[in-house]
Amino acid sequence: MKRLKTFSFAEGPQAGMIKGLLEANGIACFIKNERLFTAMGEVPFVECFPELWIFDNDQVERAAALLAGVTAADAAISESWTCPDCGEVLEGHFGQCWNCGRARS
Ligand SMILES: [Zn+2]
Repeated sequence: MKRLKTFSFAEGPQAGMIKGLLEANGIACFIKNERLFTAMGEVPFVECFPELWIFDNDQVERAAALLAGVTAADAAISESWTCPDCGEVLEGHFGQCWNCGRARS
């Protein structure tokens, strides 16, 4: 069994989603401190961070790859982009240029 990741405060809410994703891919895992996270305030702060543990050491690498995919997708959403048609710089959450209407490629 190996710890793959310790979630930061901001990532905490993602923990359950990532666990679901790994389990959907046949990787047995559990979140340590998942419940403590929701009870924050009653336990020392630093011990509240959820930790992602993988039961099978042989699956850690695959789990890490899946996790990297999730993180990359998140980054892509928040990254700004430039419209190739009119050159407008748009926030990452826009799927379409508000200036000329071109869809994000
Ligand atoms: Zn445009």
